[in-house]
Amino acid sequence: MPVTMRAKPFLFPTFCKACGRCIEACPKDCIEMSTEIDPVTGLTPVVIDLEVCNACGLCFTACPEPHGLLPRPEGLGAGEVDPSVFFGPRPSTAPVPETIPDTRVPLPSFEPMVLKGTHASAVGALLAGCRHFFGYPITPSTEGAELMARLLPELDGFFVQAVSEVAAVNMIYGCGGAGLPSMTFTSSPGFSLMLEGISYMIGAEIPGVFVNVMRGGPGLGNIGPEQADIKLVCRGLGHGNTHAVVLAPSTPQEMLDLTMLAFELAFRYRNPVVLVGDGYLGQIMGRVELPCEMVRPGIPEWAVHGDETHRGNLLSSIQIAEADLEAHNVHLNDKYRRMIEREQRAELYRCDDADWLVVACNTPARMAKGAVESLRAQGASVGLFRPVTLWPFPSGDLLPLLDRARGLLVVEAGSGQLEDELRLALSHAGAPGTRIENLRRFGGMLPQGQDIVDKVIALAHGDPSCTAPSTTTSHATAMAPA
Ligand code: SF4
Ligand code: SF4
Repeated sequence: MPVTMRAKPFLFPTFCKACGRCIEACPKDCIEMSTEIDPVTGLTPVVIDLEVCNACGLCFTACPEPHGLLPRPEGLGAGEVDPSVFFGPRPSTAPVPETIPDTRVPLPSFEPMVLKGTHASAVGALLAGCRHFFGYPITPSTEGAELMARLLPELDGFFVQAVSEVAAVNMIYGCGGAGLPSMTFTSSPGFSLMLEGISYMIGAEIPGVFVNVMRGGPGLGNIGPEQADIKLVCRGLGHGNTHAVVLAPSTPQEMLDLTMLAFELAFRYRNPVVLVGDGYLGQIMGRVELPCEMVRPGIPEWAVHGDETHRGNLLSSIQIAEADLEAHNVHLNDKYRRMIEREQRAELYRCDDADWLVVACNTPARMAKGAVESLRAQGASVGLFRPVTLWPFPSGDLLPLLDRARGLLVVEAGSGQLEDELRLALSHAGAPGTRIENLRRFGGMLPQGQDIVDKVIALAHGDPSCTAPSTTTSHATAMAPA
């Protein structure tokens, strides 16, 4: 009677998940974890001592991986490592994915509306073609999410209140990976929770829009308007080499316009875009005109979409091999450089002949604009420089003004984070010697127009010791955190 030889095991290391079940199953103790990390998976696959192995086959049964431990085929050479020997060539019959372009749909003309900032942003998102919202309510951003919850079902869209901000950002990751525009409304503590997911999105080059209606901090803080997250959105979007275009509206109209722009930029650069308002801007009502067209989104060629042409795509932020990750970072840096070159935006208000420039964004820029008007009426030569992009900081617009300006007064509802961005931008631009003064309020208190006027007059008269703010009552009252 012929003796049938049982096959000893064989393993492609890249198909081993290092679960260790085969080690427990082996009666001969001839399987152990390798000390070498597999360069493809980043795991340590098992190694088998075939001299001791008696080909009992128990490890085949124990291995949960479909392409894990297998009976070694007869005649397989020692150096044979091509999985196609076992599994055949990978079928690749899918057509090459192509971009299905966006289409622009003309809108009829509407009378201007009066909308609050968060609602204007929600309308902007819908007009940009966003039909997927994922979020977790947090004051003072919740009204934007509420409007999306009301309107998206009417538009065959999807509104998901996630169990947390961490869940929400990962839903945006998935939706953006499918090539679909999606967004959230959140506020400072909620945005902090999303940073891990945003970092992953940047790494995997996935678009998504984050509207962060900033509130007072640190910690739970309060729900008053504070520009508390400028450092976070410009410098701290998760670990590693992360940047995103940061847009800073100052009116409800801009909340709409810049939200639409945010979607356009997110898909142009395959990157998250952050729009930062403040608690006051999210709540105030203002005149808003609708655009003359809206967007019907297509599908980018890179998307992991369910249709036939996009099914073979793969998106991931993991690059195990050092050389691969370095090359990916070089690629990201090229993208950031293009953003810096092309996406700087600023409003220059009466800056041409200004001796002093007030630098402000969001709601403080509204106070600053009134102060500039008041100072001009008194004969002072003052202008407002309003960054509309906080990253990239619009130093290209600012630098030509510094030939004339005697100094800059940074007005902010916060602890100097805008001033830090300004100083960094000037330093990078080689203009670090510019005189910079500041006027700051915190905790939901806003800089007042008269404080700005007083400070500029004092500076113009050579009295930098003027330390406005005054004790004037702020628009914002301290409110309990939600
Ligand atoms: S075939 Fe049996 S003896 Fe050989 S490695 Fe697997 S479990 Fe151990
Ligand atoms: S059971 Fe399979 S997947 Fe788990 S360690 Fe062993 S070979 Fe690897």
